Amino acid sequence: MTLEAELTEKLRRLKEASLLRRLAVRAGGVPEIEEVGEDGSRTRLLNFSSNDYLGLAGHPALKAAACEAAARYGAGAGASRLITGHAPWTAALEADLAAWLEKDAALLFSSGYAAGVGTLSALIERDDVVLSDRLNHASLIDGIRLSRARVRRYRHNDLAHLEALLKEVREREGKKRVWIVTESVFSMDGDVAPLREIVELKTRYGAYLVVDEAHAVGLFGPRGGGVAEALGVLEAIEVFIGTLSKALGAVGGFVAGSRPLIDWLVNRARSFMYSTALPPAAVAAAREGLRIVQGEPGRRRRALGNAAWFRGRLEALGALRIVAPFGESGAPPFVTPIVPIVVGSAGRACRVSAALRARGILAVAIRPPTVPDGTARLRFSVSAAHSPDDLARAAEAAAWALEAAADRGVGGGTSGCG
Ligand SMILES: *Cc1c(COP(=O)(O)O)cnc(C)c1O
Repeated sequence: MTLEAELTEKLRRLKEASLLRRLAVRAGGVPEIEEVGEDGSRTRLLNFSSNDYLGLAGHPALKAAACEAAARYGAGAGASRLITGHAPWTAALEADLAAWLEKDAALLFSSGYAAGVGTLSALIERDDVVLSDRLNHASLIDGIRLSRARVRRYRHNDLAHLEALLKEVREREGKKRVWIVTESVFSMDGDVAPLREIVELKTRYGAYLVVDEAHAVGLFGPRGGGVAEALGVLEAIEVFIGTLSKALGAVGGFVAGSRPLIDWLVNRARSFMYSTALPPAAVAAAREGLRIVQGEPGRRRRALGNAAWFRGRLEALGALRIVAPFGESGAPPFVTPIVPIVVGSAGRACRVSAALRARGILAVAIRPPTVPDGTARLRFSVSAAHSPDDLARAAEAAAWALEAAADRGVGGGTSGCG
């Protein structure tokens, strides 16, 4: 069989299982995005799938900063920072990020994905033990895999399970280095890790803690630093991972921590060392994004207020199938802008998504392997840029689409998935 024939057959099977992914041409942002069909037709959609939580990606200040940086310094960085150095403001942005997160230093990566993979694979050694939340993001999973260390996955946000594993490792393996790796806001469930209790455990058992706050920076805490800031535990986190690509409205990932940590990553994080630096426009835009996050706390209040209203409305309409704020930890609940409606099968998620699209709402179906089998879902991402009317429209459309897709009448096949 040729490779082409083999792949064609595999893709056919994906399509049959409603698991095929396709790309689409869409331009715009939040709240509205325009889709260009293969026939050139244009459809305007209310966008509930972007991570642009504060509406900064289209902000005039970020756009102007990007334009000016590109005009002055060019479109591309040309090489890795270890080869050609970095654009002006790169070090300034890193210093600002470090100060914001009460760390000594920070390091930019070309994406949040690259930050997770490069950092974990550079820090974790083969003889270490890693305790990883079962729902962790692919970038964390892949970084741990590259380290070749032994991984024990603990049940999602389950402190008792995490503690049992810590005990077991300490009893059996003595002084081995142990890492706890978790997200703060989980990207597919929108719930929040009980970081205060995890910090207690990591201190008691002498483990190191890595927290990925990709969906939390810019949104939580008095200064917008994330969940750890909100809970007052920033200091205990050895390795803080974040992204500039979501609430901050630009692109790029970062790590913040001690000076030796950052110096080690410069020497050992392969996704940093062997990849071209972020373009000047991205760095300039991210700096503006950070400036606005720090100067305009009203934006995050609006984003979280919108999210609370939207969740409440879905619940009132009987459309919210899982509500999982914060597990059993007893910590204060966080309302996050990620609002999942779990529908079960991938086919059903595609049909609901198609029905929503027919009503002018973009809420993409999230399917395995991104989420566990049988938990395919619609994921709504609420932004400060959504108006009360946008939120009301989307909630009502969601309630209707769930009903409509139940009887298979609307959005047959996998059309909702591209
Ligand atoms: C989105 C995300 C990333 C990746 O960030 P990018 O900047 O988009 O590459 C990493 N970790 C988590 C938890 C995420 O949700």
